[in-house]
Amino acid sequence: MFKKIIEKNFRQALKQDTELSLGDRSKYIGASDISGCLRKAYLSKTQEVVHSMKQLIVFERGHLVEDMARKMLTCHDGEWELKEQVEISSAASNGFPLKPHLDFVIYNKKAKRCSVVEVKSSSEMDEPYESYVLQIQLQMALLQKKCGPTWKVNGKILVIDPMTGWYEVFEVFQINALQKIAFERVETLAKAIVSKQCPDGEEQLYCSKCPFKGDCPAITKGIVEEIPKDVKSVVKKVAALSDAEKLIKRQKELLKEFLEATNKKGVKSDDYTIKLISVEGKDGVDINKLKKELPDVYEKYYRREKGYSYVKII
Ligand code: SF4
Repeated sequence: MFKKIIEKNFRQALKQDTELSLGDRSKYIGASDISGCLRKAYLSKTQEVVHSMKQLIVFERGHLVEDMARKMLTCHDGEWELKEQVEISSAASNGFPLKPHLDFVIYNKKAKRCSVVEVKSSSEMDEPYESYVLQIQLQMALLQKKCGPTWKVNGKILVIDPMTGWYEVFEVFQINALQKIAFERVETLAKAIVSKQCPDGEEQLYCSKCPFKGDCPAITKGIVEEIPKDVKSVVKKVAALSDAEKLIKRQKELLKEFLEATNKKGVKSDDYTIKLISVEGKDGVDINKLKKELPDVYEKYYRREKGYSYVKII
């Protein structure tokens, strides 16, 4: 009973938050809509999706890192002025509204410079995803138009992993070619919405979590054969356990960190014995270097490893 009440409260609060900060997202195109799969963006605007509590809690991580970012970006010595949720109104050529909401903008009015700061919650990465870059390119282009040519506009992508504490800032500069692609995608999506023609799916890292994956041609690729009931129950079990698999991996990492930090090779926990197993590094050859520097030797000893198959559930 209590669980039901808090679920209802949470859903209501999130709905209100979204309406207050972003309005009705089905009535305009936002910058994140054009940076990922256009089919998902189109269907999110034209069909109602009821997310599970679990998904809603995961989505809230985005707001948690925005809170952290606010604390990082609020400058107390007046070096810059910070604005939040900066809305820029524009439109596609068919009149459909384009209305990105920029997480943060840092203004230095004296120097006529400003930076768009896009905040993302994600695990460690060496460089930002292409979708992040495309999103901020569109935002920078619109902000540049709003500020005028005498201003210098650039961008920063602030990525925070709230689970591990890792964070990074990626500097982004305006690139005409990418901004052209971003505006072309705005046109494609606006045209699709007005003409009610769903765009093609574009495979993404998040396809497995997409609410529209069931009949997505980009994923099913023509596979229509349904399986018998018994086999379906196996699929359901595997899908349900995939989260447990991730949880086990994380818990094992914590145990490993504990053993390493306390310099122990093994410990007891009731009937369980936990050991830290060290695996020696394997001998290896730098194939690319060998191919380049000793192509004859590479040719002579080259052999193709036997392929293998596995099951993937999306
Ligand atoms: S499953 Fe992937 S390709 Fe298909 S609509 Fe969703 S995000 Fe796009």
